[in-house]
Amino acid sequence: KDILNGKAALVTGASRGIGAAIAQRLAADGAAVALTYSHSKDRAEKVVADIRSAGGRAHAIQADSAKDEDIAAAVDETVRVLGGLDILVNNAGGGVFGPVQELPLDAIDTMIDVNIRGVVVGIREALRHLPDGGRIITIGSINADRIPFPGGSVYGMTKSAVAGLTRGLARELGPRNITVNNVQPGPTDTDANPADGPMSGNMLGWMALDRFGRSEEIAAMVSYLAGPESAFVTGASLDIDGGFGA
Ligand code: NDP
Repeated sequence: KDILNGKAALVTGASRGIGAAIAQRLAADGAAVALTYSHSKDRAEKVVADIRSAGGRAHAIQADSAKDEDIAAAVDETVRVLGGLDILVNNAGGGVFGPVQELPLDAIDTMIDVNIRGVVVGIREALRHLPDGGRIITIGSINADRIPFPGGSVYGMTKSAVAGLTRGLARELGPRNITVNNVQPGPTDTDANPADGPMSGNMLGWMALDRFGRSEEIAAMVSYLAGPESAFVTGASLDIDGGFGA
């Protein structure tokens, strides 16, 4: 507890699901947290209210991770409101699934824009502020490494891209002791992938553990990567997937 006292964090896409759990966990660890959302203002404000009622500091920002100007403004607002930026968590993202010939091109563009371009732009903006010893954490997916069903090729491509970005960036930022890591969840119970959804039986068949992950479990790994004990971990893609990739 309190391992992140005095730190400022920005978590993208944190009105719901994994991002909301990450924002709550980093705040519980002592960080002041800014969180972005795209449409769910009420859900984002609820995350902020929950953090504040637990004694933490939080601030919600509407910012579409597909838009460069929104990302730049969100980073600026984070620094203005929280007084700095020590930890960037690139969580906003999602997938549209289907055979590559049938996926609408605008769905492909959105996956590339949010899951890849938004991550790169967010990192470029954050690097104007991150101090030595800062943290960059991206939420990728185990689908970067294993995609045992048809229809996820473009989503998997976007998540492989951030794994590659993570390796290269670790080399660039190592001299400043800024660590760069990629968390690869497996099936995790959220609106995007409900544990009682139509695909859940198939998902469990591909896993070693007979259950979906919880967002709080993903947030616990992010907490470790954001904190001081992970200072020697960089350039890594860390699976947290119930054995989906095993
Ligand atoms: P959800 O769909 O449950 O939540 C997505 C969150 O991201 C929401 O807060 C949403 O905001 C926000 N968001 C979506 N698009 C944008 C955008 N363009 N700009 C800003 N914010 C945006 O997703 P999950 O919590 O399940 O997923 C979070 C991350 O984890 C994603 O990167 C996903 O690929 C990854 N992941 C998820 C897995 C799972 O099984 N759930 C498995 C592996 C990886 P709003 O509420 O305003 O729409």
